Amino acid sequence: MTFKELNIIEPILRALEEKGYINPTPIQEDAIPVVLNNRDMLGLAQTGTGKTAAFSLPIIQQLYLNKVSGKNREIKALILTPTRELAIQINECLNDYTKYTGLRHCVIYGGVKQNAQTNELKKGIDILVATPGRLLDLMNQGFINLNSIRHFVLDEADRMLDMGFIHDIKRLLPKLPREKQTLLFSATMPSTIAALSRSILRNPARVEVSPVSSVVDTIQQYLYYVEKPEKKDLLIDLLKKDKKKSALVFSRTKHGADKIARILCKAGIGSEAIHGNKSQNARQRALTNFKSHKTRVLIATDIAARGIDIDQLELVVNYDLPDVAETYVHRIGRTGRAGNAGTALTFCAQDERPLLKDIQKLTGKTLPVLTS
Ligand code: AMP
Repeated sequence: MTFKELNIIEPILRALEEKGYINPTPIQEDAIPVVLNNRDMLGLAQTGTGKTAAFSLPIIQQLYLNKVSGKNREIKALILTPTRELAIQINECLNDYTKYTGLRHCVIYGGVKQNAQTNELKKGIDILVATPGRLLDLMNQGFINLNSIRHFVLDEADRMLDMGFIHDIKRLLPKLPREKQTLLFSATMPSTIAALSRSILRNPARVEVSPVSSVVDTIQQYLYYVEKPEKKDLLIDLLKKDKKKSALVFSRTKHGADKIARILCKAGIGSEAIHGNKSQNARQRALTNFKSHKTRVLIATDIAARGIDIDQLELVVNYDLPDVAETYVHRIGRTGRAGNAGTALTFCAQDERPLLKDIQKLTGKTLPVLTS
Protein backbone atom coordinates (compact mmCIF):
# COMPACT_ATOMS: atom_id res chain seq x y z
CA MET A 1 0.00 0.00 0.00
CA THR A 2 1.25 3.50 -0.89
CA PHE A 3 0.03 6.97 0.08
CA LYS A 4 -1.02 7.43 -3.55
CA GLU A 5 -3.19 4.31 -3.36
CA LEU A 6 -4.81 5.88 -0.30
CA ASN A 7 -5.75 8.79 -2.63
CA ILE A 8 -3.38 11.27 -1.06
CA ILE A 9 -2.79 13.99 -3.65
CA GLU A 10 0.29 15.60 -5.11
CA PRO A 11 1.17 18.58 -2.93
CA ILE A 12 1.00 16.32 0.11
CA LEU A 13 2.73 13.35 -1.56
CA ARG A 14 5.62 15.63 -2.38
CA ALA A 15 5.99 16.68 1.26
CA LEU A 16 5.86 13.05 2.42
CA GLU A 17 8.52 12.11 -0.07
CA GLU A 18 10.74 14.84 1.31
CA LYS A 19 10.14 13.52 4.81
CA GLY A 20 11.26 10.09 3.63
CA TYR A 21 7.93 8.40 4.37
CA ILE A 22 7.83 5.54 1.91
CA ASN A 23 4.75 3.62 3.01
CA PRO A 24 1.87 4.43 5.32
CA THR A 25 1.89 2.90 8.80
CA PRO A 26 -0.99 0.54 9.71
CA ILE A 27 -3.02 3.24 11.44
CA GLN A 28 -2.54 5.52 8.44
CA GLU A 29 -3.78 2.77 6.11
CA ASP A 30 -6.91 2.37 8.20
CA ALA A 31 -7.58 5.95 9.20
CA ILE A 32 -6.85 7.94 6.03
CA PRO A 33 -9.79 6.54 3.97
CA VAL A 34 -12.18 7.07 6.91
CA VAL A 35 -11.08 10.64 7.51
CA LEU A 36 -11.07 11.51 3.80
CA ASN A 37 -14.68 10.36 3.73
CA ASN A 38 -15.39 12.96 6.39
CA ARG A 39 -16.57 10.29 8.82
CA ASP A 40 -16.13 10.50 12.60
CA MET A 41 -13.51 8.18 14.03
CA LEU A 42 -12.45 6.60 17.28
CA GLY A 43 -8.73 5.84 17.04
CA LEU A 44 -7.14 3.53 19.56
CA ALA A 45 -3.47 4.13 19.07
CA GLN A 46 -0.40 5.16 20.96
CA THR A 47 2.26 7.68 20.16
CA GLY A 48 4.82 6.19 17.83
CA THR A 49 2.28 4.56 15.55
CA GLY A 50 2.17 7.48 13.11
CA LYS A 51 -1.20 8.71 14.34
CA THR A 52 -0.39 12.41 13.87
CA ALA A 53 -0.05 11.93 10.13
CA ALA A 54 -3.05 9.57 10.18
CA PHE A 55 -5.37 12.40 11.16
CA SER A 56 -3.56 15.45 9.81
CA LEU A 57 -2.88 14.33 6.23
CA PRO A 58 -6.54 13.69 5.33
CA ILE A 59 -7.67 16.85 7.12
CA ILE A 60 -5.08 18.91 5.22
CA GLN A 61 -6.24 17.28 2.00
CA GLN A 62 -9.90 18.08 2.64
CA LEU A 63 -9.10 21.71 3.41
CA TYR A 64 -6.85 21.96 0.36
CA LEU A 65 -9.51 20.53 -1.93
CA ASN A 66 -12.04 23.00 -0.57
CA LYS A 67 -9.76 25.73 -1.86
CA VAL A 68 -9.16 27.86 1.16
CA SER A 69 -8.67 31.38 -0.09
CA GLY A 70 -6.83 34.27 1.46
CA LYS A 71 -10.08 35.96 2.42
CA ASN A 72 -11.52 32.86 4.00
CA ARG A 73 -9.15 32.52 6.88
CA GLU A 74 -11.33 31.42 9.74
CA ILE A 75 -10.05 28.47 11.73
CA LYS A 76 -11.38 25.34 10.03
CA ALA A 77 -9.60 22.57 11.91
CA LEU A 78 -8.84 22.36 15.62
CA ILE A 79 -6.43 19.82 17.10
CA LEU A 80 -6.65 19.69 20.87
CA THR A 81 -3.87 17.95 22.76
CA PRO A 82 -3.01 17.67 26.47
CA THR A 83 0.59 18.87 26.72
CA ARG A 84 2.62 21.72 25.33
CA GLU A 85 5.30 19.36 24.06
CA LEU A 86 2.77 17.37 22.07
CA ALA A 87 1.21 20.55 20.72
CA ILE A 88 4.60 21.79 19.54
CA GLN A 89 5.37 18.43 18.02
CA ILE A 90 2.10 18.24 16.09
CA ASN A 91 2.69 21.78 14.86
CA GLU A 92 6.13 20.75 13.60
CA CYS A 93 4.54 17.86 11.69
CA LEU A 94 2.08 20.33 10.14
CA ASN A 95 5.00 22.54 9.05
CA ASP A 96 6.16 19.63 6.92
CA TYR A 97 2.85 18.23 5.73
CA THR A 98 1.29 21.57 4.67
CA LYS A 99 4.45 22.81 2.96
CA TYR A 100 3.07 22.78 -0.60
CA THR A 101 -0.60 23.42 0.15
CA GLY A 102 -0.67 27.13 1.02
CA LEU A 103 -2.57 26.31 4.21
CA ARG A 104 -1.71 28.20 7.38
CA HIS A 105 -1.52 26.84 10.88
CA CYS A 106 -0.22 27.75 14.30
CA VAL A 107 0.07 26.44 17.84
CA ILE A 108 -1.04 27.90 21.17
CA TYR A 109 -0.20 26.63 24.66
CA GLY A 110 0.15 28.03 28.15
CA GLY A 111 3.20 28.86 30.19
CA VAL A 112 4.54 31.47 27.78
CA LYS A 113 3.48 35.03 26.92
CA GLN A 114 0.51 35.16 24.59
CA ASN A 115 1.60 37.98 22.25
CA ALA A 116 3.50 35.90 19.72
CA GLN A 117 0.56 33.49 19.60
CA THR A 118 -2.13 36.15 19.18
CA ASN A 119 -0.07 37.84 16.45
CA GLU A 120 -0.01 34.57 14.54
CA LEU A 121 -3.76 34.14 15.01
CA LYS A 122 -4.45 37.62 13.69
CA LYS A 123 -2.79 36.71 10.39
CA GLY A 124 -5.54 34.18 9.72
CA ILE A 125 -5.16 30.49 10.36
CA ASP A 126 -6.68 27.38 8.77
CA ILE A 127 -5.54 24.80 11.33
CA LEU A 128 -5.05 25.48 15.02
CA VAL A 129 -3.16 23.20 17.41
CA ALA A 130 -3.94 23.98 21.05
CA THR A 131 -3.81 22.89 24.64
CA PRO A 132 -7.15 23.36 26.44
CA GLY A 133 -6.31 26.08 28.99
CA ARG A 134 -4.73 28.56 26.59
CA LEU A 135 -7.42 27.89 24.00
CA LEU A 136 -10.24 28.81 26.39
CA ASP A 137 -8.26 31.77 27.65
CA LEU A 138 -7.74 33.25 24.17
CA MET A 139 -11.34 32.48 23.22
CA ASN A 140 -12.53 34.41 26.26
CA GLN A 141 -10.34 37.33 25.26
CA GLY A 142 -11.93 37.31 21.80
CA PHE A 143 -8.86 36.25 19.83
CA ILE A 144 -10.37 32.99 18.65
CA ASN A 145 -13.65 32.15 17.02
CA LEU A 146 -14.48 28.52 16.38
CA ASN A 147 -17.70 29.01 14.38
CA SER A 148 -16.11 27.75 11.17
CA ILE A 149 -14.60 24.55 12.54
CA ARG A 150 -15.19 21.61 10.18
CA HIS A 151 -12.70 19.16 11.68
CA PHE A 152 -12.07 18.62 15.38
CA VAL A 153 -9.39 16.26 16.71
CA LEU A 154 -9.23 15.32 20.37
CA ASP A 155 -5.79 13.79 20.72
CA GLU A 156 -4.65 11.61 23.65
CA ALA A 157 -8.11 11.81 25.18
CA ASP A 158 -7.25 9.43 28.02
CA ARG A 159 -4.31 11.57 29.09
CA MET A 160 -6.49 14.65 28.72
CA LEU A 161 -8.90 13.23 31.31
CA ASP A 162 -6.04 12.03 33.57
CA MET A 163 -4.72 15.58 33.61
CA GLY A 164 -8.09 16.96 34.68
CA PHE A 165 -9.06 18.67 31.43
CA ILE A 166 -12.58 17.22 31.35
CA HIS A 167 -14.18 20.50 32.48
CA ASP A 168 -12.26 22.49 29.90
CA ILE A 169 -13.39 20.08 27.21
CA LYS A 170 -17.00 20.28 28.35
CA ARG A 171 -16.82 24.07 28.22
CA LEU A 172 -15.31 23.95 24.76
CA LEU A 173 -17.66 21.49 23.05
CA PRO A 174 -20.73 23.76 22.90
CA LYS A 175 -18.62 26.45 21.22
CA LEU A 176 -17.98 24.20 18.23
CA PRO A 177 -20.45 23.99 15.34
CA ARG A 178 -22.72 20.93 15.36
CA GLU A 179 -21.87 20.04 11.78
CA LYS A 180 -18.28 18.90 11.81
CA GLN A 181 -16.05 15.86 11.66
CA THR A 182 -14.75 14.68 15.04
CA LEU A 183 -11.78 12.37 15.54
CA LEU A 184 -11.00 11.06 19.00
CA PHE A 185 -7.69 9.39 19.74
CA SER A 186 -6.87 7.50 22.89
CA ALA A 187 -4.22 4.95 23.85
CA THR A 188 -6.52 3.25 26.34
CA MET A 189 -10.25 2.78 26.54
CA PRO A 190 -11.48 3.24 30.11
CA SER A 191 -15.22 3.70 30.62
CA THR A 192 -14.85 7.48 30.83
CA ILE A 193 -13.44 7.56 27.30
CA ALA A 194 -16.15 5.22 26.05
CA ALA A 195 -18.74 7.60 27.49
CA LEU A 196 -17.03 10.66 26.04
CA SER A 197 -16.80 9.11 22.60
CA ARG A 198 -20.48 8.12 22.69
CA SER A 199 -21.40 11.69 23.48
CA ILE A 200 -19.24 13.44 20.88
CA LEU A 201 -18.88 11.01 17.95
CA ARG A 202 -21.60 10.32 15.40
CA ASN A 203 -21.59 6.84 13.90
CA PRO A 204 -17.81 6.61 14.24
CA ALA A 205 -15.50 4.17 12.51
CA ARG A 206 -13.31 2.44 15.05
CA VAL A 207 -9.67 2.13 14.11
CA GLU A 208 -7.37 0.20 16.35
CA VAL A 209 -3.71 -0.63 15.91
CA SER A 210 -1.08 -2.81 17.49
CA PRO A 211 -2.24 -4.20 20.76
CA VAL A 212 0.07 -3.15 23.54
CA SER A 213 2.11 -6.36 23.59
CA SER A 214 3.22 -6.21 19.96
CA VAL A 215 4.60 -2.69 20.40
CA VAL A 216 6.59 -3.98 23.31
CA ASP A 217 7.95 -6.97 21.40
CA THR A 218 10.28 -4.87 19.28
CA ILE A 219 12.18 -3.58 22.30
CA GLN A 220 14.72 -5.48 24.39
CA GLN A 221 13.57 -5.23 27.96
CA TYR A 222 15.47 -6.11 31.11
CA LEU A 223 14.89 -5.85 34.80
CA TYR A 224 17.18 -5.06 37.73
CA TYR A 225 16.06 -5.79 41.26
CA VAL A 226 17.63 -2.91 43.10
CA GLU A 227 16.68 -1.06 46.26
CA LYS A 228 16.18 2.71 46.25
CA PRO A 229 19.53 3.75 47.79
CA GLU A 230 21.48 1.72 45.22
CA LYS A 231 19.58 2.90 42.15
CA LYS A 232 21.78 5.92 41.51
CA ASP A 233 25.02 3.91 41.51
CA LEU A 234 23.54 1.33 39.17
CA LEU A 235 22.43 4.07 36.78
CA ILE A 236 25.87 5.69 36.80
CA ASP A 237 27.55 2.31 36.19
CA LEU A 238 25.26 1.48 33.29
CA LEU A 239 25.71 4.88 31.66
CA LYS A 240 29.49 4.74 32.08
CA LYS A 241 29.67 1.27 30.54
CA ASP A 242 28.31 2.50 27.25
CA LYS A 243 29.56 6.03 26.87
CA LYS A 244 27.82 6.94 23.64
CA LYS A 245 24.23 6.02 24.25
CA SER A 246 21.63 8.71 24.75
CA ALA A 247 19.20 7.75 27.48
CA LEU A 248 15.78 8.90 28.58
CA VAL A 249 15.35 8.22 32.31
CA PHE A 250 11.90 8.23 33.89
CA SER A 251 11.36 9.44 37.42
CA ARG A 252 8.02 9.30 39.19
CA THR A 253 8.42 12.72 40.82
CA LYS A 254 9.65 16.14 39.75
CA HIS A 255 11.89 16.36 42.79
CA GLY A 256 13.34 12.93 41.99
CA ALA A 257 14.05 13.99 38.40
CA ASP A 258 16.05 17.02 39.57
CA LYS A 259 17.94 14.90 42.07
CA ILE A 260 18.93 12.28 39.48
CA ALA A 261 20.11 15.02 37.09
CA ARG A 262 22.27 16.53 39.83
CA ILE A 263 23.79 13.17 40.77
CA LEU A 264 24.60 12.31 37.15
CA CYS A 265 26.14 15.72 36.47
CA LYS A 266 28.33 15.27 39.54
CA ALA A 267 29.43 11.91 38.13
CA GLY A 268 30.44 13.68 34.90
CA ILE A 269 27.46 12.51 32.83
CA GLY A 270 25.77 15.41 31.02
CA SER A 271 22.10 15.42 31.98
CA GLU A 272 19.08 17.63 32.36
CA ALA A 273 15.63 17.18 33.87
CA ILE A 274 12.29 18.18 32.40
CA HIS A 275 9.07 18.37 34.34
CA GLY A 276 6.06 20.56 34.95
CA ASN A 277 7.81 22.88 37.42
CA LYS A 278 10.21 24.10 34.76
CA SER A 279 9.30 26.96 32.48
CA GLN A 280 8.22 26.11 28.98
CA ASN A 281 11.41 27.64 27.61
CA ALA A 282 13.60 25.60 29.95
CA ARG A 283 11.77 22.41 28.93
CA GLN A 284 12.09 23.18 25.26
CA ARG A 285 15.79 24.01 25.67
CA ALA A 286 16.46 20.75 27.50
CA LEU A 287 14.66 18.82 24.80
CA THR A 288 16.60 20.54 22.01
CA ASN A 289 19.90 19.86 23.80
CA PHE A 290 18.97 16.22 24.16
CA LYS A 291 17.83 15.81 20.57
CA SER A 292 21.05 17.40 19.29
CA HIS A 293 23.12 15.17 21.63
CA LYS A 294 24.44 18.13 23.59
CA THR A 295 23.18 16.43 26.72
CA ARG A 296 23.37 12.69 26.87
CA VAL A 297 20.73 11.96 29.43
CA LEU A 298 17.27 13.45 29.85
CA ILE A 299 15.38 12.75 33.05
CA ALA A 300 11.65 13.22 32.73
CA THR A 301 8.41 12.76 34.58
CA ASP A 302 5.64 10.99 32.70
CA ILE A 303 3.55 14.02 31.97
CA ALA A 304 6.50 16.10 30.73
CA ALA A 305 7.65 13.24 28.51
CA ARG A 306 4.28 12.43 27.06
CA GLY A 307 4.56 12.11 23.31
CA ILE A 308 8.10 13.44 23.13
CA ASP A 309 9.36 12.24 19.82
CA ILE A 310 13.04 11.48 19.71
CA ASP A 311 14.47 9.70 16.70
CA GLN A 312 16.95 6.95 17.37
CA LEU A 313 16.68 6.86 21.11
CA GLU A 314 18.54 3.72 22.13
CA LEU A 315 17.89 3.48 25.82
CA VAL A 316 14.99 4.10 28.17
CA VAL A 317 15.50 3.62 31.91
CA ASN A 318 12.62 3.25 34.33
CA TYR A 319 14.37 4.56 37.42
CA ASP A 320 11.05 4.30 39.23
CA LEU A 321 8.21 2.07 38.15
CA PRO A 322 5.10 3.87 36.93
CA ASP A 323 1.91 3.65 38.97
CA VAL A 324 -0.14 2.61 35.96
CA ALA A 325 0.99 -0.35 33.87
CA GLU A 326 0.03 1.28 30.55
CA THR A 327 2.49 4.06 31.32
CA TYR A 328 5.29 1.50 31.13
CA VAL A 329 4.36 0.81 27.54
CA HIS A 330 4.22 4.53 26.73
CA ARG A 331 7.62 5.03 28.31
CA ILE A 332 9.47 2.23 26.58
CA GLY A 333 7.73 3.02 23.28
CA ARG A 334 10.13 5.98 22.98
CA THR A 335 12.89 3.59 22.00
CA GLY A 336 13.02 1.03 19.21
CA ARG A 337 11.09 3.29 16.83
CA ALA A 338 10.91 2.57 13.12
CA GLY A 339 12.85 -0.67 13.39
CA ASN A 340 15.80 0.83 15.28
CA ALA A 341 17.26 -1.26 18.08
CA GLY A 342 16.01 -0.19 21.46
CA THR A 343 16.61 -1.23 25.04
CA ALA A 344 14.47 -0.57 28.09
CA LEU A 345 15.89 -1.15 31.57
CA THR A 346 13.65 -1.19 34.61
CA PHE A 347 14.81 -0.69 38.20
CA CYS A 348 12.47 -2.41 40.64
CA ALA A 349 12.72 -2.05 44.42
CA GLN A 350 10.98 -4.38 46.86
CA ASP A 351 8.02 -2.04 47.39
CA GLU A 352 7.54 -1.69 43.62
CA ARG A 353 6.99 -5.41 43.03
CA PRO A 354 3.18 -5.15 42.85
CA LEU A 355 3.56 -2.55 40.08
CA LEU A 356 5.93 -4.88 38.24
CA LYS A 357 3.36 -7.64 38.45
CA ASP A 358 0.77 -5.39 36.79
CA ILE A 359 3.18 -4.54 33.98
CA GLN A 360 4.06 -8.16 33.32
CA LYS A 361 0.38 -9.02 33.27
CA LEU A 362 -0.42 -6.25 30.78
CA THR A 363 2.45 -7.02 28.42
CA GLY A 364 2.16 -10.78 28.83
CA LYS A 365 5.91 -10.93 29.29
CA THR A 366 8.18 -11.83 32.18
CA LEU A 367 11.09 -9.44 32.09
CA PRO A 368 14.51 -11.12 32.09
CA VAL A 369 16.49 -10.17 35.19
CA LEU A 370 20.04 -8.79 35.01
CA THR A 371 22.35 -8.39 37.98
CA SER A 372 24.61 -5.40 38.36
P1 AMP B 1 3.34 9.70 15.93
O1 AMP B 1 2.73 8.40 16.37
O2 AMP B 1 2.41 10.54 15.16
O3 AMP B 1 3.98 10.41 17.09
O4 AMP B 1 4.53 9.34 14.90
C1 AMP B 1 5.66 8.63 15.28
C2 AMP B 1 6.86 8.84 14.35
O5 AMP B 1 6.68 8.16 13.11
C3 AMP B 1 7.15 10.28 13.98
O6 AMP B 1 8.55 10.46 14.12
C4 AMP B 1 6.75 10.41 12.54
O7 AMP B 1 7.53 11.37 11.88
C5 AMP B 1 7.02 9.02 12.01
N1 AMP B 1 6.13 8.62 10.89
C6 AMP B 1 4.81 8.83 10.79
N2 AMP B 1 4.32 8.28 9.66
C7 AMP B 1 5.36 7.69 9.04
C8 AMP B 1 5.50 6.96 7.81
N3 AMP B 1 4.46 6.68 7.03
N4 AMP B 1 6.74 6.51 7.48
C9 AMP B 1 7.78 6.76 8.28
N5 AMP B 1 7.73 7.45 9.44
C10 AMP B 1 6.54 7.92 9.82
